[in-house]
Amino acid sequence: MTQIAIVEDEPKLASLLRDYLEADGFGTIVYDNGTQALDELKRNPPDFVLLDLMLPGTDGMTICRELRKTSNVPIIMITARVEEIDRLLGLEIGADDYICKPFSPREVIARVKTVLRRVTPVSVESVSEDDFIIDEGAAMVRVGDKECTLTSVELNLLKTLHASPGRIFNRHQLMTRIYNDNRVVSDRTIDSHVKKLRQKLEALHPGVQYIHSVYGIGYKFEKTT
Ligand code: CA
Repeated sequence: MTQIAIVEDEPKLASLLRDYLEADGFGTIVYDNGTQALDELKRNPPDFVLLDLMLPGTDGMTICRELRKTSNVPIIMITARVEEIDRLLGLEIGADDYICKPFSPREVIARVKTVLRRVTPVSVESVSEDDFIIDEGAAMVRVGDKECTLTSVELNLLKTLHASPGRIFNRHQLMTRIYNDNRVVSDRTIDSHVKKLRQKLEALHPGVQYIHSVYGIGYKFEKTT
């Protein structure tokens, strides 16, 4: 799980960010003091840093500059001061992106994902019979030379499970990841989407199972024959 450090001294903003990020499948840790944050971020490097500019103790700019001396961790600065932006993104400070206050949590998540995509090297896929490819743009899944279309719920479901092979997701965790509008649906609804998705995958690759139910807990992605 991608661990995101939230360095923000306004408790309401920090918990808003934490809630949205966790609902989207990220792990979070919140620091409300700059000096403590810099210490902890060095000792315990996260995968991503959301960094407020104005903080008690060490300020966000100093933290960013210090981290950059030894680390390429993605950093998004949060600032209310538009005039600082050029400097934040410049070589001296070295942030990857910035977000202006006030912001919407959805915008923050979108930016985090964009920066993550930019910094994560694209792996070269080898072509083999076993290729399992999720084509998000076309809402399709391909296995070998066969393909089929997915509904948006099936696509989100498959993406979530496939991104963490072997990890068991309970129905609530799946629900928060597959519906973008915080809709609450029954466990039976989740089960029936999983069932349809499994039937589609089974048709693409008979005899191979990709999605497993784990009794009493939920579902996981694992290729078995
Ligand atoms: Ca602040």
